[in-house]
Order: sequence, then structure tokens, then C-alpha cells
Amino acid sequence: MNKQVKLLTDTYNREHTYLRISLTEKCNLRCTYCMPSEGIPLTPRTHLMTADEVYEIAKVFVKNGVTKIRLTGGEPLVRKDFETVVRKLATLNVEIAITTNGILLERYFPLLRELNITNITISIDSLNSDKNALITRRNQFKTVWKNISLLQEHTEQVKLNVVLMKGVNDDEIVDLIKLTQHNNFIIRFIEFMPFDGNQWNTDKLVSQNEIITTSSNYFNAHNIIREKDKPNDTSRNYSVKGYKGSFSIISSVTNPFCDSCNRIRLTANGKLKNCLFSANETSLLDDYRAKKDILPKVKLAILTKLKARGGMDTFEKISDSKLHSDNRSMIAIGG
Ligand code: SAM
Ligand code: SF4
Repeated sequence: MNKQVKLLTDTYNREHTYLRISLTEKCNLRCTYCMPSEGIPLTPRTHLMTADEVYEIAKVFVKNGVTKIRLTGGEPLVRKDFETVVRKLATLNVEIAITTNGILLERYFPLLRELNITNITISIDSLNSDKNALITRRNQFKTVWKNISLLQEHTEQVKLNVVLMKGVNDDEIVDLIKLTQHNNFIIRFIEFMPFDGNQWNTDKLVSQNEIITTSSNYFNAHNIIREKDKPNDTSRNYSVKGYKGSFSIISSVTNPFCDSCNRIRLTANGKLKNCLFSANETSLLDDYRAKKDILPKVKLAILTKLKARGGMDTFEKISDSKLHSDNRSMIAIGG
């Protein structure tokens, strides 16, 4: 095995090849499950990574085994110098992906196409405009849907993220799967996860089992095909027999996939999080600005990664609000 790759391998032998970079803490939506109603205190501009710093820090990870970078946020496309950032990262010779709420996609689509960035996931939680406005606290459904169609025109497959919440949008599971009959969509149902300020509780959770039961009852269990998952997939993949697209379930709460986790996260203010659920952070930006080598800190952060969900290794622990309130809100982590 390559000596450098080992530097990003943790004590459970998980190799970290996938870096998710949050480009901003800001967003043009206010999704209830992500952003606390009162907003979040924003990091002062001078403490956020510049385009050069994003690039230089990312370069260290790439040199040491990262092969894929996902740009996220906040909403990555609201970052004013998004074009500069993405052009720099595109020179790193790794796969670049992006997760976006889709509102500004039309503006940046020519750039993403020019850079050959086709791995674009759009988040949309309801097929109903009013319900979408309720969830996102903004009225942007038409624009997002138009941009999903734009993406569909130009790419083979479109990935859509849906966070399911009981009594809010769980009545749309079947309608969302029906979309995959004639469209090559992957509908990615995400279990609602607890983060600081998002009013999570187990009553609002729609579990993997419930999603499977609902889809099996409607389409008949024998028509639901369990598709093969890719290595390090965080989703379990399914399709309905004869349908063009597929659907998947990201069950971080009821059935996590920590054993094969290859992800690490860099927040917009340059902190490394070794797990989405970890309250511990390692500041890389301070060291970078002090002209210190950031690699020893990266290595230590990887070696101290816990086995599962930042230590919340049981359903009881993840359901305990005291244990997840030390973590950031999702908007400030970068999902
Ligand atoms: N703004 C972009 C977007 O919405 O796609 C990127 C950032 S967002 C934090 C990344 C993903 O995290 C989105 O698909 C969003 O639905 C998901 N997400 C946010 N909060 C979540 C939560 N509490 N539980 C599960 N997924 C969540
Ligand atoms: Fe913004 Fe994405 Fe969070 Fe919604 S999920 S508030 S679009 S960052």
C-alpha cells in the first residue's frame, strides 16, 4: 500500500479518501431541519477560508490519498467567489462533486460543464410547492424544479436528496419513487438527523424500515429490487422492477454505515471534523496561516476518530439531546 495513503487511515483501518468541504455558512434557504429558526452566529469573514486557502488545504489532503472532494455548505453556490474556488480545485485531478439546493444552478451550470463536474446532487424535500415553502421557509420550488430539469437534460442521472420528516413529507414517499418510473433519478431518502437547534426528536424520524414498508406495500415487495451498493456507499440502494431510475435510503440514525466510512469534513472556517456527529474539531486554518505543517494535526484527527457516530454508537445515545447539542448546526457543518 502507498505510504502516503496510510496517513489518512484510522485505527479501525478506514481509509479516508473523500473530503467534503463547506464553502460557506450562508444559505438562500432556511430549511427547518438544518437551520435553527433564529439563524446561526456567522463566523467573521476574516476567519473563513479564502479561495487560495481552500485550495492549499485541499491540496494537502489530495497529496495524502483523497480522491474525491464534495463542495457543500451552507449553500455552496451563494459563495461570491465560487468560480475561483472551483476552478482552482479542478486542477487537483480528483473527482469533484457538489450538493446544492439548486436555486443558482442555472447561473453556474456552464462553468460546471466546462470543468466536467457532473456529480451534482440537488436537495428537494417535497413535490408540492406550498409544502416546500413550509420546509425551506422560502418560496423557490419553481426555480429548483426548473433547474432539476436543466440538469436532467444534460446528465445521464440526477440525484435528489429528500430529508423525510414524519407528518411533513412522509406521505410523498410513493410519489417520489414513482418519479423514477420514466426518469433516471436516484431519490435519496435521508433519515432526519439530530443537530444543534433543529428540534429533532424520534417522533419526527421516518426510519429505513418504514420507508421499505411503505414502498413494499404500494409497489409489492417482490417488485422492489435491492440494488448493489458501491464500496463506501452511505446509502442502501433499491429500484422498482422495470423503472428507469432508483431510490436509496441513508439511514444514519437507525442503521448507520460507520464501518465503511471514508469521509472527513472541512468547515468553512477551516476546521476538520473527523465525523459528521463529532463535537471535536481540529483547526487547520490557524496552523496554515501560522505557516505550520497541517499534516500532523490531520493525522491526529484521523487517528482519534471514534468507531461510530462520534461516540453516539447506539440509538439511545443518538436520541439523547444532551449528547448532540455540543455539535454544530448542520448549516455550519456542511452536510
Ligand atoms: N445547501 C445544500 C443543499 O441543501 O443541498 C448543501 C448543504 S446541505 C447541509 C447538504 C445536505 O444535508 C442536504 O441534502 C440536506 O437536505 C441535508 N441535511 C441538512 N440537515 C439535515 C438533517 N438534519 N438530517 C438529514 N439531512 C440533512
Ligand atoms: Fe440551506 Fe441546504 Fe441547509 Fe437547506 S439544507 S438550509 S438549502 S444549507
